[in-house]
Amino acid sequence: MSSKPTTLIVTHDSGLMHDTGPHHPESPDRLRSVQNALKQDVFKTLPREVAPVASVEQMARPHSEAFVKQILAAIPEKGLRHLDPDTAVSPGSGQAMIHASGAVVRAVEAVAKGEARNAFCAVRPPGHHAESARAMGFCLINNIAVGAYHARAAHGFKRVAVIDFDVHHGNGTQEIFWDDADAFYASTHQYPYYPGTGARSEKGAHKNVVNVPLASGSQGDVFRGGMRDEILPALTAFKPDFILISAGFDAHKDDPLAQLRLVEEDFAWATAALMDVAQQVCGGRVVSVLEGGYNLDALAASVTAHVETLKDH
Ligand SMILES: [Zn+2]
Repeated sequence: MSSKPTTLIVTHDSGLMHDTGPHHPESPDRLRSVQNALKQDVFKTLPREVAPVASVEQMARPHSEAFVKQILAAIPEKGLRHLDPDTAVSPGSGQAMIHASGAVVRAVEAVAKGEARNAFCAVRPPGHHAESARAMGFCLINNIAVGAYHARAAHGFKRVAVIDFDVHHGNGTQEIFWDDADAFYASTHQYPYYPGTGARSEKGAHKNVVNVPLASGSQGDVFRGGMRDEILPALTAFKPDFILISAGFDAHKDDPLAQLRLVEEDFAWATAALMDVAQQVCGGRVVSVLEGGYNLDALAASVTAHVETLKDH
């Protein structure tokens, strides 16, 4: 491995064992598609790590120990159990969940210690809909919030920021960060749409939340305008010590779950723009975490564009 810090890829095959049931869009094939994309020659020099487990204590930081134990206790020994109409767990879900959060914990550690320049976590289940005390919307534990609080608790960073370009609003991350003056959350998302939150008027208890709702059918120009004119200035002014990206790719024009019209180049542009802010305010520290993305080809192409930008920009 080269000694020059580059983009670290963290993943775990337990993510393939989280079974959500037949025909569920949040399928193991999503992670397979992402892992295959990351095997392309263009990424062959990147360091890779197998995600460790996250501890109950680490997962409890944005939730509670009782909540984490309640989710683990809900994992069935066989078959599926539904936690809400969209959110099912199977016997493999517990391991997938603790390695998904563990991936983000390890990525934060690697970037905090300068072992990696930045990092991408290829994980499932996703996390940004998981509230402090509620699993929902395909999400069990809020992986990115676990990572943000780990940056603080274990590495001494004070101010943490999550930027979320998944097509859905990250109600969970917003709820967890709402009262926390040192935690910033900003999102672009289709609106009105699932999960219903994310109006521009939702600004957090400390003006620490920025929501940029986008109308159905919006294309890259509108997305980039919202990032450039609203999110990037607010993020820069917040002066985070650490930036995390909720990297969902379901705003892609080919995604079956929503109606935004982004293309791979839009995700690459946003990635570069966030890296520029990180370079300016926090030594370039960026950890990106997979959220949604349900057209397997669009997901693979979008992850490719995103990770190429993390690697080369
Ligand atoms: Zn989504």
